[in-house]
Amino acid sequence: MSPLRICTVYPDLLGTYGDSGNGEVLAARARWRDLDVELVAARSSERLPEADLYAIGGGEDGPQVLAAERLAADGGLVEAAKRGAVILAVCAGFQVIGNRFPDAQGQLHQGLGLLDIATAKGTGPRAVGEVAVAVPTESDGGLGLPMLSGFENHGGVTTLGPGVEPLGRVAAGVGNGAGDGSEGAVAGHVLGTYLHGPVLARNAALADLLLAWATGIELEPLDDAGSEDLRRERLGRLSLS
Ligand code: GLN
Repeated sequence: MSPLRICTVYPDLLGTYGDSGNGEVLAARARWRDLDVELVAARSSERLPEADLYAIGGGEDGPQVLAAERLAADGGLVEAAKRGAVILAVCAGFQVIGNRFPDAQGQLHQGLGLLDIATAKGTGPRAVGEVAVAVPTESDGGLGLPMLSGFENHGGVTTLGPGVEPLGRVAAGVGNGAGDGSEGAVAGHVLGTYLHGPVLARNAALADLLLAWATGIELEPLDDAGSEDLRRERLGRLSLS
């Protein structure tokens, strides 16, 4: 069997918020299960390699526009999504894989269209701070994950189209910010969120869900006491709605 290939997309452009840690977490959790795994960081000057799982992070407005242009010209991520690769996209990455997103002046740019979402420049204050996200149970059509913890830092406001489901509802913080209380978006094996942290370091269950999607196997549980302590500590500081 060929190794599980995890690709961190453009850390040179979308590395501001430490989200390349998501790739590290995924690779570590796969290795701890004795899975053969390869972690590659794809710089924006290179062709995007083929992978089973892609992690895209957040960044400033300028590099975000550049990342969108290079990903569109490369075409590899759109192809990967078509063949069912798993994609985790955070903040700027989330906006980039949607239908459109704003630059620093509020001018709209075309996204990759992998998620049916549209982002515009918000008119209120920038959303900055800790976030808690309640994820619906599977019987309610959700991913059935424990309350997610992370932090956000964005000026964009994201509206969900009919082709996606929200990842969850904000129990604290702003999230998508369009007034519906939603956070993130999911369609098939493409998942976007505003949560930094890195989100997978704070939420082991989400990391394992992505690994299960990418490998198609049921993963044995790990001792997550350390990461659970962190999640509890961060969530414990918030008053949840
Ligand atoms: N530039 C985007 C915004 O402000 C994304 C920011 C980020 O990735 N944290 O909305």
